[in-house]
Amino acid sequence: MNAPAKTHTPSPAAREFLARRHQLFIGGQWLPAVDGGEIAVHDPATEAPLARVASAGANDIDRAVAAARKALGGEWSRLSSHQRSRLIWRLADELEANLDLAVELEVLDNGMPRMVAHYSIAKFGCDFLRYYAGWCTKILGETIPVSPQDVPNGESLTYTRREPIGVVGAIIPWNSPLVMATLKLGPALAAGCTVILKPAELTPLTALLLGDLVRKAGIPDGVVNIVPGYGHIAGAALAAHDGVDKIAFTGSTEVGKKILHAAAGNLKRVTLELGGKSPMVVFPDANLERVIPGAARGAFFLQGQNCMASTRLFVHEDVFDKVVEGVTRMANGFRLGPGLAADSDLGPLISAEQRERVLGYIAAGRDSGAQLVCGGEALPGKGHFVRPTIFSHTDMGMKIAREEIFGPVLCVQPFGDGDLQAVAREANRTIYGLSGSVWTRDISVAHRMVNLIDSGQVSINCHAAVDPAIPFGGNRQSGWGREFGREGLDPYLKTKATTVMF
Ligand code: NAD
Repeated sequence: MNAPAKTHTPSPAAREFLARRHQLFIGGQWLPAVDGGEIAVHDPATEAPLARVASAGANDIDRAVAAARKALGGEWSRLSSHQRSRLIWRLADELEANLDLAVELEVLDNGMPRMVAHYSIAKFGCDFLRYYAGWCTKILGETIPVSPQDVPNGESLTYTRREPIGVVGAIIPWNSPLVMATLKLGPALAAGCTVILKPAELTPLTALLLGDLVRKAGIPDGVVNIVPGYGHIAGAALAAHDGVDKIAFTGSTEVGKKILHAAAGNLKRVTLELGGKSPMVVFPDANLERVIPGAARGAFFLQGQNCMASTRLFVHEDVFDKVVEGVTRMANGFRLGPGLAADSDLGPLISAEQRERVLGYIAAGRDSGAQLVCGGEALPGKGHFVRPTIFSHTDMGMKIAREEIFGPVLCVQPFGDGDLQAVAREANRTIYGLSGSVWTRDISVAHRMVNLIDSGQVSINCHAAVDPAIPFGGNRQSGWGREFGREGLDPYLKTKATTVMF
């Protein structure tokens, strides 16, 4: 049951990367932090040290903002949209050419299984950049058929232009670090903005690799700056900086609120992709052969460290036992181990602190009277591994059912025949509204439930259907704004209206 997978040693290319000096990427140069600060980076599967990385302080953020502002008015602003598109496309090509190294570094740094890293970087790293490369030539203004002053029709012209919002501070979490970086870079660069990217202090390595790739792609100096650093120092300085026009933040709801306060000084634009506690609702006519793997993967993908995770499973009482039994069998069958080992299904949690936090929630679940069906403990030995855990007969009064745990903990709650509104009320009983899914063969029930669930994304007979072209984002305290698709470009643009009097 959850037997640990075998270990695996890093490749020579990864060892060479890890051994180099890791500095800040500012204005196209690799520079040490002004105060010499460093972050120690560890492998969450073995707890072994991986690298020491320069840690940006407020002075370094000043330098990065100055470089990004200079680049905003420089060569970058004079490129045609076709040229900008080609540079973003080239960055995707460079990432693809270095995919093996990127995947390996991501696995070592974050702990995710190699297959997951490979799929997500290829799909949401390369494809995402290419999707937004395509938008460069499609950013359109409008002509508006009015005469603002009392001029006869035809004697004036009013049009709008969409301009880059300016310098963007992108602050990202550790749960899918390289993908998160590309989610910010794609639309920002397509819009013509310049960027200061601050990766999470726990996972800075693939962002640093991205610095190499930005250079190789020929993106002008200062257009992309990469500043690893602690959230309360580098992140806070970036969020508060008067030289930054927009913050694109992905992370916890708690820090999202701090970003809003910090951004108020110069009223910079803010988009927030925050936490989730997403429901999966299963009706008795659903195809259980799809429901069971869908529920197990939806809850435990990335060890549950996934904002869209289907951590609340609402199952009709007629199929409740069957679904719980099937998902438990799958959860018990997942092999836990280092992401680089070929037979690992699930990796470790990101840190000892995160493991303790998750174990604290599991203890709260036991105390609240929920039935522990499987898991419920950490694996002994090195690495921050926690067994996939299922609590059944939870209710929305319980802390484990209401709060985002960001770990491998699934709450299963039964519902009976009757009012769909009552099921939806339970599904909506959290502060979050990020993702969700409804599983049934009844088209009316499916669409009525979609209408009733208050989330940015509600899928039918699948969970978390993400694609670069499908808008993604949260309602309520899951965030502000949308990423992906055309809507994901809008927050990086501002509109200028011009009237010409003939
Ligand atoms: P976090 O909020 O702790 O940190 C996110 C980033 O913010 C990190 O880079 C961190 O250094 C920085 N930060 C921390 N304090 C800061 C401050 N005071 N000012 C500025 N920046 C600061 O989140 P995390 O633990 O890295 O990630 C987990 C959270 O991210 C979960 O809540 C998860 O749901 C959320 N998340 C959301 C999405 C989404 O698309 N909605 C995607 C992935 C993760």
